[in-house]
Amino acid sequence: MRLLVSGGAGYIGSHMCKLLAENGHEVGVVDNFSTGYRQAVRWGKLYQGDIRSAEFLDEVFEDFNPEGVLHFAAKSQVGESLVAPAEYFSNNVVGTLSLLEHVRKRPGCLFVFSSTAAIFGNPQTPLIDEQHPRNPINPYGRTKLSIEYALQDYFTAYAMPSISFRYFNAAGADPSGAIGEAHDPETHLIPLILESVLGRGGGLKIFGDDYDTPDGTCIRDYIHVNDLCAAHLAGIRYLQRNPGAHFYNLGNGNGFSVRQVLSVAEQVVGQRIPAEVCPRRAGDPASLVAQSVRARKDLGWTLQFPAIEDIISTAWRWHRSGKFSRRVADALNVAE
Ligand code: UDP
Repeated sequence: MRLLVSGGAGYIGSHMCKLLAENGHEVGVVDNFSTGYRQAVRWGKLYQGDIRSAEFLDEVFEDFNPEGVLHFAAKSQVGESLVAPAEYFSNNVVGTLSLLEHVRKRPGCLFVFSSTAAIFGNPQTPLIDEQHPRNPINPYGRTKLSIEYALQDYFTAYAMPSISFRYFNAAGADPSGAIGEAHDPETHLIPLILESVLGRGGGLKIFGDDYDTPDGTCIRDYIHVNDLCAAHLAGIRYLQRNPGAHFYNLGNGNGFSVRQVLSVAEQVVGQRIPAEVCPRRAGDPASLVAQSVRARKDLGWTLQFPAIEDIISTAWRWHRSGKFSRRVADALNVAE
């Protein structure tokens, strides 16, 4: 199939492009390089531009003629969304609606949407399944939930088939070591642990050890980036046979506390990793763990990297390669 990947230069998007190409699909990448990297675009034809521009999208859709769109381009930091909601609504809502104007006018064109566990807000049950109430507690979650509502209405009115995937904590890197996670600034736990081992990014902080969890630190569900991408591939097949506006939670189903992640990372890197306990970070629920049985059942989704050790090992291989730093990335961007 001809599949267009928005945000294909970013962390999850670039892993998706690799998997699609490996499975024989023709890939187009749309990215404005606001946070993505040129050197991560290796598996597809690049269209550089902003999805909020209708003229740009006219050209892309005319040239690439996609049969499906996988939409990763978004701003995705909870903290930033609290202080800059305008940017979040503009990128994540206005930008996505602009893209949907093109998708909905192409009969049969599939749409796969990157949603988030942040649409649920504070969990009301230990495991979060698809029926859990959607009560986001930050602008980021609200932008993603707005699009989930739109997708349901677009299927009803325009028969536009879609799947929303609510990611829990995406982590790890492609085992090849060619691509990985490189946010700037980085806010995520696993990359920050590994960068601290490499002496970059300052000392590691544990945000709160007074939560109502067995060791007092927050529990999250870490899912390997390639497993997330595999669900998208399965989702495209499912959508071809089952038109609708579907939604699935994607997680490992196992929760790990910050201290547990740190301890596994110490085994992976073979050394002690110092960390300082700091006050809680605003907006962090004590525990977020997915119930992803439905994706396994409907999509036939299985995990290639269920073990947290393997998730951290693949990330470690990427971070050790030194391709992580913004300085290196900028130099490569200029060089190309
Ligand atoms: N965390 C931490 N120190 C850090 C970064 C994160 O203790 O430097 C904690 C954070 O409070 C949360 C967990 O690690 O409980 C996962 O945070 P991350 O930002 O990776 O993902 P989130 O769950 O916020 O999407």
